[in-house]
Amino acid sequence: MNCPYCGKEMTKGYLSSRDPLTWRTKKSALPVLDPLAKDAVILAGSGTVLVVHHCEDCRKFVIDCADGAHNEVK
Ligand SMILES: [Zn+2]
Repeated sequence: MNCPYCGKEMTKGYLSSRDPLTWRTKKSALPVLDPLAKDAVILAGSGTVLVVHHCEDCRKFVIDCADGAHNEVK
């Protein structure tokens, strides 16, 4: 995958977490409850590992969460 900012080849790696990974439009006061929030996008469930591409020059990470089940590493 090429970086959408600079166009260089990105480094493939893995993102893992013991807890669910969530993204929200609002800053969380209690992150442990984020998966229950109405605005939460759950990128991965507990204990999953996701494929993530990294651009060291731009300090950006790209996570494909369009279909998280296919992005999880078995
Ligand atoms: Zn870049």
